[in-house]
Amino acid sequence: MRQRYEWLETEWSKMREQSLCREWQTVESLAEHGGTWIVVGGKKLLNMSSNNYLGLAHDPQIMAAGEKAARQWGAGGTASRLVLGNYPLYDELEQRLARWKQREEALVFANGYQANTGVLAALAGRGDVVFSDRLNHASIVDGIVLSRAEHVRYRHNDWEHLAFLMEKHQGTKRKWIVTDSVFSMDGDKAPLLELIKLRERYGAFLMVDEAHAGGVRGERGQGLCHELGIASQVDVLMGTFSKAFGVYGAYVCADQVVIRHLRSKARSLIYSTALPPGVVGSTIAALTQIEADEWRRQALQHNAQLFRRLLAEKGFAVTSDDTQIVPITLGENERALQFSQKLWERGVAAVAIRPPTVPDGTARIRFTVMATHQPEELVWAVEQLTAVRDECAGGM
Ligand code: PMP
Repeated sequence: MRQRYEWLETEWSKMREQSLCREWQTVESLAEHGGTWIVVGGKKLLNMSSNNYLGLAHDPQIMAAGEKAARQWGAGGTASRLVLGNYPLYDELEQRLARWKQREEALVFANGYQANTGVLAALAGRGDVVFSDRLNHASIVDGIVLSRAEHVRYRHNDWEHLAFLMEKHQGTKRKWIVTDSVFSMDGDKAPLLELIKLRERYGAFLMVDEAHAGGVRGERGQGLCHELGIASQVDVLMGTFSKAFGVYGAYVCADQVVIRHLRSKARSLIYSTALPPGVVGSTIAALTQIEADEWRRQALQHNAQLFRRLLAEKGFAVTSDDTQIVPITLGENERALQFSQKLWERGVAAVAIRPPTVPDGTARIRFTVMATHQPEELVWAVEQLTAVRDECAGGM
């Protein structure tokens, strides 16, 4: 048997040498309701690696709505939506999403990965070019590969480079620009106003992934495109329910003609079972809270600013962004792993992010702040970070 899989053993050894083997921890319980504190291996830790930005994953109303929907409609989606797996709940969610985003229609997908792969493969094809930010999420990259369009990557957030590349591809059939609005591993924002100009200048289409901005930015949490007042000029607005919504799933909002096409052409939607009704029920309840609970966005913004300011005061290199994703780049994989391990020992859970999730040589700890973190917890976390840095000075 060992001989049969020797190639995998060899690969594993190589990955181990580069500190690229991955393992997960099991969260045994939530030390406090709300998930800001977790228990792993019997140890209580402050969770600074969660995408549950608004703390909605454990909201009693959202959990109860999921339970109610599951009791009424069952535990599973039972089939693809196109094959009698569509319930009124799904239509209700889509109508609410379209209203919230002020777009003609919305379409729900099983998750963000499937939304990006399904949408890109259905809307772009051979003869088209997709211009994609170098740091876009892996699901965008995979969607472009599936689409068979030409994949042209532009330097991160460098719209001048993008303009240069678009100029070079003047003759192509259709041009798509795709970007995250808030970048998942860097926490910085795309130059959306510039991208809109390029969309106009080159007659291109624009798709924006609001996974980390949905629920968090904009007056009613619609995302960064709404905050900037450009949402109506974005061809496809995509977002997830797995982060600020605290649930699971994803959506796209666009003109009716685009959504109609996706309903018949997006393979990740057609050939996959509808989301479980409980998940959809919870998502509708989460949307209600996201629209109404401005205080959660304010608390998140306040915590993000506090955490960033405290880190800067201690001499950490933090960027001037204002988002809830705060990376501390450490460089080598081994260094990031050690830093994370030492933080863990001090009671802070913040996971090391390594290639290929981030570029080689930029391994980091990706801290995420939640609306439900107490300011004194963030002060304490920065003290732990500073202590780990001082402990490791020169030794790492
Ligand atoms: N887009 C971005 C920018 C993301 O960060 C993620 C998840 N990390 C996804 C898409 C995929 O979303 P999901 O987890 O719902 O599959």
